[in-house]
Amino acid sequence: MFENLSDKIMASLKKVRGQSKITEANIEEVIKEIRLSLLEADVNFKVVKTFIDKVKAKALGAEVLQNVNPGQMFVKIVHDELVNVLGGGAVEINVRENPSVIFLVGLQGAGKTTTAAKLSLYIRQKLGKKPGMIPADIYRPAAIDQLQTLGKQNNIPTFPTQVGMKPEEILEKAKQWAKDHMVDVVIVDTAGRLQIDDELMGELSRLKGIWAPQETLLVADAMLGQQSVNVAEGFHKTMNLTGLVLTKVDGDARGGAALSIREVTGIPIKFLGVGEKVAALEVFHPDRLAGRILDMGDVLSLVEKAQEVIDEKSARDSAKKIMKNEFTLEDFLTQIQSLKKMGGFETIMKFLPGMGDLSKQLKNMTPPDAEMKKIEAIIRSMTYQERQNPKILNASRRMRIANGSGTQVQDVNKLVKQFEEAKKMMGGLMKMGMGRGGMKFPF
Ligand code: GDP
Repeated sequence: MFENLSDKIMASLKKVRGQSKITEANIEEVIKEIRLSLLEADVNFKVVKTFIDKVKAKALGAEVLQNVNPGQMFVKIVHDELVNVLGGGAVEINVRENPSVIFLVGLQGAGKTTTAAKLSLYIRQKLGKKPGMIPADIYRPAAIDQLQTLGKQNNIPTFPTQVGMKPEEILEKAKQWAKDHMVDVVIVDTAGRLQIDDELMGELSRLKGIWAPQETLLVADAMLGQQSVNVAEGFHKTMNLTGLVLTKVDGDARGGAALSIREVTGIPIKFLGVGEKVAALEVFHPDRLAGRILDMGDVLSLVEKAQEVIDEKSARDSAKKIMKNEFTLEDFLTQIQSLKKMGGFETIMKFLPGMGDLSKQLKNMTPPDAEMKKIEAIIRSMTYQERQNPKILNASRRMRIANGSGTQVQDVNKLVKQFEEAKKMMGGLMKMGMGRGGMKFPF
């Protein structure tokens, strides 16, 4: 959906890439072109203005790093500002409570029912929890059947809503049903209308009173463009939205919605719907989308490299420690902190002799974000001695760490075990001088 915007911004950025100096004069034209491209992509004009002002201020005040020319630096500034507009980092859905309740709200046709099934699969496959769906959209005639069919096809428990039931009654009864079916995460497909009206808002508020959701996600159609900003604001007033699912991103929408909603409403985009199939749901990563829009991986990584010299030193130190078999949980924590920027263990591996090929295989083995956060929380709850020597972790220490990090003792056990295994394996590989294909990093 961002092809046009991407092409235009890239064409204008090419003009500054070779510049040896950034001045107000030589970026003026480029900035004008970027402004136009954003407006053409249907980005809200206020968002465009703030964006341009920030890029300009940063560009003129930027300290140019060694080994990078000012034009390349400018591309990086535009990229970082795009990431900011899109919300910074990815924001996960909150399913910590048991059961957790997620309300899906939105206009008719936005994709709520489809999203309910997509989200259920995501929760089951990626978060390892048991989802259950509640059809409560009694206004669109086919919505209930549609959700029940999706439930059957994908083996997702679905509350047997009967024709004639009121949404309040559905939700009341679904509480016991969720208990009986041992559902961890309840997804409520709420009523949609063609437009926002008082009646709809009244009903949704009442439903919130019956079963307070941890997440109220607005499902919004990206094809609506800027209009979806108004819809989001409307729902947000009454419903206190916690996030957004932007659907039909696979269509030929101009992308303005994604770039505007977050900035105008402050509501984080959590997922993108990228097709009609139930698997077509992506977690929203602002940096990936900004990367897609700019498609200038070469320049970005060059600038990032220059900024990461310090992190590289820590990777080099870790590699040395692995060789001496001295790698501790403390080092592991340091690595985790720079893992995202650095590309994870792959980078450490680069500094281990004979590991060049293997590092490619490790590329996709960095733990998922949720897992990383857990690991970090656990290690942070350990004392310095414990991080240096996990062998002293007896049952009571493990319990203390689990409590301190908001995790379970099993999580602490798992981390310690995996860490020891990884250390052993890395030590073994060093002795062999080279790993064999198909190795899987256990984190
Ligand atoms: P609801 O009224 O909000 O429950 O909307 P539905 O879930 O019934 O979706 C309306 C239409 O949009 C259906 O034809 C869906 O297949 C389609 N749809 C939903 N999400 C997506 C998406 O991410 N991409 C595409 N291309 N179509 C979608």
